[in-house]
Amino acid sequence: MERTFAIIKPDAVAAGHSGAILQRIETAGFAVVAMRLTRLSKSDAEGFYAVHRERPFFDALTTFMSSGPAVVLALSAPEAISKWRTLMGATDPANADEGTMRRDFGTSIDRNATHGSDAPETAAFELSYFFRGLELV
Ligand code: GDP
Repeated sequence: MERTFAIIKPDAVAAGHSGAILQRIETAGFAVVAMRLTRLSKSDAEGFYAVHRERPFFDALTTFMSSGPAVVLALSAPEAISKWRTLMGATDPANADEGTMRRDFGTSIDRNATHGSDAPETAAFELSYFFRGLELV
C-alpha cells in the first residue's frame, strides 16, 4: 500500500463537486485515511507550493488556493500516487482525458479542481504539511 496527498481545490468545493469527487475516489478503490475541510491562508499556500516560487503563475496560484475552503485528503491504495495522478488527468483540463477529474470538474489550467502529489518525496512532504501522524487512520 502507498499513500498520496490530494486536494479538492476551492473551485470544485465552491461548485458543489466535493461529494461527486469523493464518490469517484472511493469507487476507484482508494481508502480515505484522513480528510479535512480547511481554508489555506496565503502563506499556507505559498509554503505548500514553495517549489513553484519562481514561476510566473505563483501569485495567482496561491491567491486562488487561499480563496475559499478546500478539502485536503490522505489516500491509500496500491501505487496510490500514480493511480491518483491518472484519475485526475492532465494539469490543463483542455488536455485531460475523458472521465478524469480535471476534464469533468476543472474549467481552466488555474482552476483545475484537484491536486495530487507527483512523487514519493512530495507525497511525504505534502502529507506531513497537512496531517499529524495520529490523524492518519
Ligand atoms: P500539477 O502537478 O498537475 O498540479 O501541476 P504543477 O505542479 O505543474 O502546477 C501546480 C498548479 O499550478 C497546477 O495544478 C495549476 O493549477 C497551476 N499551473 C500550472 N501551470 C500553470 C500555468 O501555466 N498557468 C497558470 N495560471 N497556472 C498553472
